[in-house]
Amino acid sequence: MSLFDSMYAEDHEQVVFSADRAAGLKAIIAIHDTTLGPSLGGIRMRDYANEAEALTDALRLAQAMTFKAALAGLDYGGGKAVVIGDHATTQREALFRALGRAVESLAGRYIPTEDMGTTTADIERVRKESRFGVGRDEVFGGGGDPSPMTAWGIFCGLRACLEEVDGTAEFRGRTVAVQGLGKVGYSLARYLHEAGANLIVADVDATRAQKAAVELQARVVSPEEILFQPCDILAPCAAGAIFTRDTIPRLRCRLIGGGANNQLLTDEDGDALFARGLFYAPDFALNAGGLINVADELGPGGYRRERAKAKTEAIYTTLKTLLAEAKRRQVPPHRLAVTLAQERIQAVRNLRRLHLGTRAERRDE
Ligand code: NAD
Repeated sequence: MSLFDSMYAEDHEQVVFSADRAAGLKAIIAIHDTTLGPSLGGIRMRDYANEAEALTDALRLAQAMTFKAALAGLDYGGGKAVVIGDHATTQREALFRALGRAVESLAGRYIPTEDMGTTTADIERVRKESRFGVGRDEVFGGGGDPSPMTAWGIFCGLRACLEEVDGTAEFRGRTVAVQGLGKVGYSLARYLHEAGANLIVADVDATRAQKAAVELQARVVSPEEILFQPCDILAPCAAGAIFTRDTIPRLRCRLIGGGANNQLLTDEDGDALFARGLFYAPDFALNAGGLINVADELGPGGYRRERAKAKTEAIYTTLKTLLAEAKRRQVPPHRLAVTLAQERIQAVRNLRRLHLGTRAERRDE
């Protein structure tokens, strides 16, 4: 599919390619929809196999951010940046400052934050060149790494899912398989352990899995096996596109809910999970805590942890409402989550236009 056909397909507004040879920057910024407000979304750094794969990831992730913000009740649109390269590189200053200049050139249409392969320190590098960037270090008045809040939101949302599936929100004695023990996965594993769940874990980084074995009494399996473990809950917290025609028939969980963005390869794969009777909590509904946390930095008075935490805990209610409504409408929750997000965006788009003076007149005030 051509680039413009790809943009047309899901109605993306803008895609920006940014290169800086000296800094080693190869970046794509995708802006999906800014109806509700400026686009907000993380910077993902990854050694993509090729540029097409990076572009697809940027487009898919930006769209997911639109839905995530809309469903969480935030006044932001969806955007995402992907940086092609080794996320472990130590040559970061020039790279992220170069990206910061590209971000600044968008004049606030895209506000970056961290994602896989990037950290709060990278956001500060972006901020040296741009007014835009959240998920800032606490010393700069930000909320710091949003991942623990993401994990807390997932934990709260999983309680709603357990109530739906089992009639109780009790984690004690439940077996949870966690794929990926990075910033989100490890925090989530810790909350689950504290709540009495038995953990099965895997990470391509063996030291992380070993740490969980020692600290959280987790049973370690290989990355190839984790998705197919018999368990109550499967919590994917690594990369996306893991539920496919090949993997779905082999799953042995009852409920799926985790931090990874875009877990379904296609919406039809969500239908296949539904048809198999596996309960899938839509990823963008469940993992919105990090977005809520970083967006709070732009709220009145700057970042307020208690406010961000309270909004994150509302993910429980969002899930409860979503699941009840899905049952009432007899549709899979992942389809309804998209519909509800789109309905909110459409309602704002349809607002009646009242003439409020020209921009120049308003500036005079
Ligand atoms: P991270 O880079 O800190 O962690 C990812 C972990 O997954 C790493 O430990 C990595 O070694 C491991 N991993 C990669 N491939 C794997 C595989 N095939 N099997 C097992 N482990 C594997 O990233 P993160 O910030 O924890 O994000 C994890 C996921 O959650 C991503 O999809 C991200 O987009 C999503 N997410 C993150 C946040 C956040 O606040 N950080 C918010 C919303 C969504």
